[in-house]
Amino acid sequence: MKKMVVANWKMNKGLVQSQQFAEELKTQLEKHKVLNADIVICPPFTSLDALNKRLNGTNVKLGAQNMYYETIGAFTGEISAGMLKSCGCEYVIVGHSERRQFFNETSAIVNKKVLMALDEGLKPILCVGENLQEHDDKLTESVIDGQITTCLGHVSVEDITNVTIAYEPIWAIGTGKNATPHQAESVHNFIRKKLKKIYNEEISKNARIIYGGSISPENAKELFASPSVNGGLVGGASLEVESFLKIINSAL
Ligand code: PEP
Repeated sequence: MKKMVVANWKMNKGLVQSQQFAEELKTQLEKHKVLNADIVICPPFTSLDALNKRLNGTNVKLGAQNMYYETIGAFTGEISAGMLKSCGCEYVIVGHSERRQFFNETSAIVNKKVLMALDEGLKPILCVGENLQEHDDKLTESVIDGQITTCLGHVSVEDITNVTIAYEPIWAIGTGKNATPHQAESVHNFIRKKLKKIYNEEISKNARIIYGGSISPENAKELFASPSVNGGLVGGASLEVESFLKIINSAL
């Protein structure tokens, strides 16, 4: 399976900076002929349309960082899956820990988003992960188990093939302290076992499970080398073309 490298820009880059990044990335990708990884960029909503136009014809896909679980109506400030599709999105991140932490998103809400994204033909990138306390208390597996059970509720065996799971230990996000390849591998294998229980062996084997949490040009190769790690969700290091490209190249 091709590795997938997803850039999560969070609340960074206005329109001009986003466009500059896209132009530079395009030039570099053409030079280096990087075709072997699935690359997804998730900019702020306000840059989606412009990036769609600029990345058209490249192998770089577009994703959003969030969406709402209703299709239309009086939900001031929210964005629907259909709106994201109209801007060229193929992917949408759901359940990022910052959404859970700062915007009170529960796994039940995340489940509604996963179901709506799939209904509307978007591919969810579902984030799960334990916080530091849970990590220290050795609760990682039970936390992930609960998150997966709830977030994937009612997701059919056909639809699950369009879901990417991102294991993002919260203690590793933006801290410069990444999980070791061994830790990532072990949790990814746990997620596969869980998928086998919910779905079947084939789904478990073919599921795309990526790691996120302080991925950098320095540690990406080692993290991506694990057979169970199918790529990465990259925050801080995706904001500069140079470091993002190094990470993409580590995935080949
Ligand atoms: C993220 O927020 O998804 C993330 C992985 O951030 P960072 O790479 O900055 O830790």
